[in-house]
Amino acid sequence: MKKSDIGLIGLAVMGENLVMNMASKGFTVSVFNRDIKKVSNFVENRGKQENIIGTYTIEAFVNSLEKPRKIMLMIKSGQPVDATIEILIPYLEKGDIIIDGGNSYFSDSIRRTKYLEDKGFLFIGAGVSGGEEGALKGPSIMPGGSLKAWPYVENIFKAISAKVEDGTPCCDWVGEDGAGHYVKMVHNGIEYGDMQLISEAYQLMKEHLGMTADEMHTVFEEWNKGELNSYLIEITSDILGYKDVDGSALLEKILDAAGQKGTGKWASCSALDEGIPLTLIGESVFARCLSALKEERVVASKILSGPRSKFSGDKKAFIEDIKNALYASKIISYAQGYALMRAAAKSFGWNLNYGGIALMWRGGCIIRSAFLIKIKEAYDHNPELNNLLLDPFFRKVIEHTQDSWRRVCGSAIANGIPIPAFTAALTYYDGYRSEHLPANLLQAQRDYFGAHTYERTDRPRGEFFHTNWTGRGGNTTSDTYTV
Ligand code: NDP
Repeated sequence: MKKSDIGLIGLAVMGENLVMNMASKGFTVSVFNRDIKKVSNFVENRGKQENIIGTYTIEAFVNSLEKPRKIMLMIKSGQPVDATIEILIPYLEKGDIIIDGGNSYFSDSIRRTKYLEDKGFLFIGAGVSGGEEGALKGPSIMPGGSLKAWPYVENIFKAISAKVEDGTPCCDWVGEDGAGHYVKMVHNGIEYGDMQLISEAYQLMKEHLGMTADEMHTVFEEWNKGELNSYLIEITSDILGYKDVDGSALLEKILDAAGQKGTGKWASCSALDEGIPLTLIGESVFARCLSALKEERVVASKILSGPRSKFSGDKKAFIEDIKNALYASKIISYAQGYALMRAAAKSFGWNLNYGGIALMWRGGCIIRSAFLIKIKEAYDHNPELNNLLLDPFFRKVIEHTQDSWRRVCGSAIANGIPIPAFTAALTYYDGYRSEHLPANLLQAQRDYFGAHTYERTDRPRGEFFHTNWTGRGGNTTSDTYTV
C-alpha cells in the first residue's frame, strides 16, 4: 500500500481542518488522536475519503508514513507536546521530522529543536494562524526549526497555505529553532493590539458619540473600503450588524469580561526581557485583565467619580478623527512589534526576513490587512530599517493623522473614557521623537540613593560618574549593569 505523504496527530478543530485542507490538495494524510474514538468518528464521517487514513496505534500511524516521516502535531501546547514526542521517539528513524503546529512557547521550540536534533531527528515549530476557517481554506504558516527539514515539507505547507493576490503563499521559512513560534507570538500580540484599538474606537463611538450598533456597523463597513481594510475591521462590522432573536444587537448582550490564552502575555514578557517598549500590546493585555475584574468595576462605578461623557461638535468629523487615530496607533503597534522581532533576532541569532514576515501575514491569518503590503515595501526598500516610523510612507501617514489622534486622545481623557491603547501609542510616538527625556533626573536619583553612577552630556558615552550628593556618602559606586 502507498505510504502517506504526511501524518497528523490531534483531531480537534485545527487538526481536522488542516487534514481536510491537505487532502483537498491531493496529499495522502494519516491521522491519529490520543482518544481514538475521534479517529473513527472523523474517518467515518467528515474525513471519509481515499486519501485520509485513520490509524489506531502510534506504531501503525508511524508505519503508514513515507520516509523521512513528516508528523505534524496539532494538539494542546505545553506538556502534551513533550509527552507526544516521547511516545513517538521509539518508533522513529534518523531524519524523521516532527512538526509542532500548535501555539507553543518559542523557548520550548528552541529546546525541542536541540533535543530532537541531538537524537538524529528533525524538528519544525510552525505557527499556524487563521482559526478554523483558515486551517480549512488556507492559513498563514510560520515555520522555523531544523532548516534541513524544510525541503521535505515546503511543498505541502505552501500548497495548503493562503495565497496573496499574485499567488504568493503566506508561508515561508522563518528561521532557526524557535523563530517560527516567536514570529507567531508577535503576530498574536499584534492581534491583541488591533482588537483593543478597534474596541476603543467602538467605545468612543458608543459612549462619547452615542451611536447605535447599526450606525457603527455602517462606519466599520466604510472603513473596510479604505486604508484600514482588514479581516478584523470586516468582522467587527458583521458583529455590529448581528441581531439577537429579539431583533436587537447581540453585541450589547455580551458580558464585557475578556478572556485570553496567554500569547499576548508571552509577547509582553519577551519585550520586557529584550528591553523593547511594546507598550500598545502590553496595554492591550492589561485592558483584558481590567475588563475581567467585572464585579470590582461594578462596585467601583458606584463609588468613584469622573467626568460625564458629553460630545458637542461635528460628529462626522470626530468619526474621521477616530479613524485616523486608529490608523496611526496601528502603525505604532506594528513598529513596536517589528522592533521586538529585531531585538529577539539579535538575541537568539535568527536571520529574519522582515518583509517576508509581512507577506506571510498578508493572507490567511487574523491580522491580515491591506496595510501589510506597505510594511513589506518598507523593508524591501531598507532591510535594515530601525523603526517602521522612520520609513517615508509611515512617517507621512503619521504627519497626516496626528492632529486627529491628539484630538481623540485629549477628548477621551477630558471625558473620562478609557483608551489605553490609543494613548499608549501616542505617548510612545512622542517619546520616540524626543531628543530629551527626563531620564537625566532618573539617573541622578539612582546615583543619589544607590551610587548607581551616571553618564554626562559633556563627556563621551561610556564614562561613568558618581556624585556624593549629600556630603555624607563615600566614593564607592555600585556596579553598572543592565538587568
Ligand atoms: P485544542 O487546543 O483544544 O487541543 C485538543 C487536542 O489536543 C486534542 O486532539 C487532544 O486530544 C489533544 N491533547 C490534549 N492533551 C493531550 C495530551 N496530554 N496528550 C496528547 N494529546 C493531547 O485544539 P485546537 O484544535 O483548538 O488547537 C490545537 C493547537 O493549535 C493548540 O496548540 C492551539 O493553541 C493551536 N491553535 C488553535 C487555534 C484555534 O483557533 N483553535 C488557532 C491557531 C492555533 P484528545 O482528543 O485525546 O483529548
